Amino acid sequence: MSFDVAAIREQFPILKREIDGNPLVYLDNAATTQKPQCVIDALVDYYTTCNSNVHRGAHRLADEATRRFEAARDIVKDFIHAPKREEVIWTTGTTEGINIIANGLSQLLSTGDEVIATGMEHHANLVTWQQACKASGATLKTVPVTDDGELDQTAYEALLNERTKFVAFPHVSNALGTVNPVKAMTAKAKEFGAWVLIDGAQGAAHCKVDVQDIGCDFYVFSGHKIYAPMGIGVLWGQASLLENWPVWRTGGEMIATVTLQNATWNVLPYRFEAGTPNVGDAIALGEAIRWFSALDHHAVVAHEKALLDYATELAENFDGLTIIGNAKHKIGVLSFVMDQGHPADIGFLLDRQGIAIRTGDHCAQPLMTRFGVPGTARASFSLYNTLEEVDILFAALKKVRSMLA
Ligand SMILES: *Cc1c(COP(=O)(O)O)cnc(C)c1O
Repeated sequence: MSFDVAAIREQFPILKREIDGNPLVYLDNAATTQKPQCVIDALVDYYTTCNSNVHRGAHRLADEATRRFEAARDIVKDFIHAPKREEVIWTTGTTEGINIIANGLSQLLSTGDEVIATGMEHHANLVTWQQACKASGATLKTVPVTDDGELDQTAYEALLNERTKFVAFPHVSNALGTVNPVKAMTAKAKEFGAWVLIDGAQGAAHCKVDVQDIGCDFYVFSGHKIYAPMGIGVLWGQASLLENWPVWRTGGEMIATVTLQNATWNVLPYRFEAGTPNVGDAIALGEAIRWFSALDHHAVVAHEKALLDYATELAENFDGLTIIGNAKHKIGVLSFVMDQGHPADIGFLLDRQGIAIRTGDHCAQPLMTRFGVPGTARASFSLYNTLEEVDILFAALKKVRSMLA
């Protein structure tokens, strides 16, 4: 099956937009992806035909909303190959999923325990563990990043020991595009009995995710980076852990019984879903994953790799441009700096030509410090981008270079 990028683009209405008379070239996919019409339709259809609060109503709309909401949970379960549907917890996104686990962890750790994260984290997967360690007296260690932008596996092994209770790392770096060897890293942590959380914010849309094959305990991701709306995400965790993990938010739906002085907690997944959930966006996330899963995964990966390879080749031959992050295994992220200008200026001048990239620290300040840069310019590709758009980017960068020189 070949990959028909024109047919894919047809399904994304926003890609028809123009910016100051230029066709939009959207290369900020690591920040958020655009939404296909079927996802927009799923959201509109929910609010048009069956908006209702779930699980509580004894009426037709509540039944329909509940059925669609729980069907979306099944779609996620299959997508990440989770053993049990009740292990799929709805969140607002990656950040909230990590916070739920970190909050519980802070109550489970004590002085002398160690937590390992890495030097390539998004702040969401670093500051959370800093806080959990500060609250519990545990110590945070971090895996260094090599010059190529990979995790130093020898150093990682040296950090692991009997005191290691928890290990967190990204499936894929949002700032560099590095794909980490998550299965091997999980296996090493498991030799010491540590719990493992994987930040899958970038992994879900670009890598095959099989939580049972990886062997991790927790996997989190955001809907909006995989063609679904903002405000919905997934925390997956092993039932045996989540059943006993300290609860985070308390309130309606997450309780079993309540007296004036005490309460007991509901079963999974509701134990972690206090309050009215984001029903419409959960249904739309289900639709996004259904749509994405129906594509030929190998063709998608090959297309995104072709975009990265072409962009990398042009970047390597572009005077004054330095790529940050040359890992052997990358998704379509090209992070770079230019001798002539600050990343913010590059972003501004590209926007004038209709090209959307991201500039700055990408919520990864320690990683920027590691590479001695204040930030980078980052073009990140998705399945709807084209080789012509890569050409447009580099033609525009030539103009930027001469304007800044
Ligand atoms: C985007 C991102 C996050 C945070 O996701 P939110 O949707 O903002 O909660 C965390 N980690 C990585 C690697 C990301 O790319």
